[in-house]
Amino acid sequence: NFRPLTPLHFLDRAAEVYPDRTAVIYGEVRYTWRMFAQRCRQLASALISAGIERGDTVSIFSLNTPAMLEAQFGIPLSGAVINCLNSRLDAPAVAFILAHSEARIFFVDRQLAPVAQEALRLMEAPPRVIDIDDPSGADFPLLGDTEYEAFIAAGDPAAELRWPQDEWDAIALNYTSGTTGDPKGVVYHHRGAYLNALGQIINGRMTGARPVYLWTLPLFHCNGWCFAWALAAVGGTQICMRKVSAEGMYQAISEHGVTLLCGAPIVLGFLADGAPSDWTPPSAPIRVLSGGASPPAPVFKRLGELGFEVVHLYGMTEMHGVTTLCEPQEAWDDLDIDERMKHVARQGVRAVLADEMIVGDPLTLEPVPRDGQTIGEVFMRGNIAMKGYLKNPKATEEAFAADWYHTGDLAVIHEDGYIEVKDRSKDIIISGGENISSIEVEEALYSHPWIAGAAVVAVPDPKWGETPCAVVELKPGAPGGITEADVIRYCRERLAAYKCPRHVLFEPLVRTATGKLQKFRLRTHAAEQLAAKGRI
Ligand code: ATP
Ligand code: MG
Repeated sequence: NFRPLTPLHFLDRAAEVYPDRTAVIYGEVRYTWRMFAQRCRQLASALISAGIERGDTVSIFSLNTPAMLEAQFGIPLSGAVINCLNSRLDAPAVAFILAHSEARIFFVDRQLAPVAQEALRLMEAPPRVIDIDDPSGADFPLLGDTEYEAFIAAGDPAAELRWPQDEWDAIALNYTSGTTGDPKGVVYHHRGAYLNALGQIINGRMTGARPVYLWTLPLFHCNGWCFAWALAAVGGTQICMRKVSAEGMYQAISEHGVTLLCGAPIVLGFLADGAPSDWTPPSAPIRVLSGGASPPAPVFKRLGELGFEVVHLYGMTEMHGVTTLCEPQEAWDDLDIDERMKHVARQGVRAVLADEMIVGDPLTLEPVPRDGQTIGEVFMRGNIAMKGYLKNPKATEEAFAADWYHTGDLAVIHEDGYIEVKDRSKDIIISGGENISSIEVEEALYSHPWIAGAAVVAVPDPKWGETPCAVVELKPGAPGGITEADVIRYCRERLAAYKCPRHVLFEPLVRTATGKLQKFRLRTHAAEQLAAKGRI
């Protein structure tokens, strides 16, 4: 007679144990845990009244607003599966996801109304729309028949809710970034979400003083890596901001005593560059969890000086976003700061909770030696693995071949057990039998004072099979006359000759909504450009 594990139970508990603590801060808005739980229950009840059935998809397209937090509880408590869309997606991508997931109801932040409107126009059978009203979005048209506040006001906080019947039931649906192809719909179960929320309590060291979490990570990102659920478990406070800026972050930190935040490297860059002139590091360091891509070591160093304790995460949508983190080790205390930051910039050694991870041979899964050199693929298995890809049994089967989740990421293991991701298997360049990590070459290019963006991809070569081609975006104001030969020479001074790009194209880099480069598109593009010039 065990009840299915689900993070949704944290909500009522928070309302009982911490009723008067602040749950949400958003501009002038404050909700206590009692109020917040009541609003979530009303949302669930309103969805049930609107005809939502168990297993339906309910989508939400919003910046980090309280409605986004309420959706994390209210939607699954109606028995539906919550699907958060990346707020930076364009209309065709939004239409694709709404149609693919068969969303029944679509909550739209009025600030995102123009894209949503276009997406709905592209659809044959659009879902019902409910506008998330916000004073800052008042200039945009209303798309639906109801506004969010009116919709939830009609819900009954005492109505019977739909708890999961089984912990393997779906709770959420998140689409991958689409870095290596079309975005895939990752289905999460209640059990994985529950365990991942516990993992975040450990990762975020949330059990000490009252945690105050600043939402700089978009909530749509794998359900905010489960932080909304984790913070309910500990009765913490969550601060939402529509727009992330250095000024806003530093203001929230001083006003509300933030203890924890997460972000992609770009958010860390804002923090590192934007400290106010009178900033003094807090007495207890603010924990910062960073993931999604490799952040540059100098940013880590600067944040350490400013009083932030940065921890590097590695993970992917298929594993709820977070798999490992790089806890600073006492053994590193003796290292000089540059060397220590290089260590922190590695990804981590063990998965949180009872999940397993190996770096092994792509075919035999035989673990690679801990030599910091031999490249293997990262494989994972355990409780926080996704249920599978929505309507894509073939991709699911391939992803879980031989019982392990195949990440498609290539990494080495250092002597001390730390793994370091080198590249994606689809992006590695094999030249004359040698593996070249595109990331390593890009890092060398990024150190160039006038290079703003760089992507290195394989192009065909009659002699070597493949050679690296760099696509380079110069900073505005870069001196004219930087040539291909200059860039290649610059790389030669920093990299082994065989790793240096043979070709350099100067052009703007197009990124996905999560800020990643789609190298599969860039490869074709680079090959076409070079072929047109008669160079390959
Ligand atoms: P798709 O699967 O659709 O091609 P995607 O893999 O970019 O897109 P996400 O799940 O958002 O979608 O990203 C996970 C990937 O991001 C990981 O597999 C890894 O390649 C990369 N990544 C995540 N964290 C880090 C990190 N700390 N350092 C380097 N790379 C990372
Ligand atoms: Mg992926």
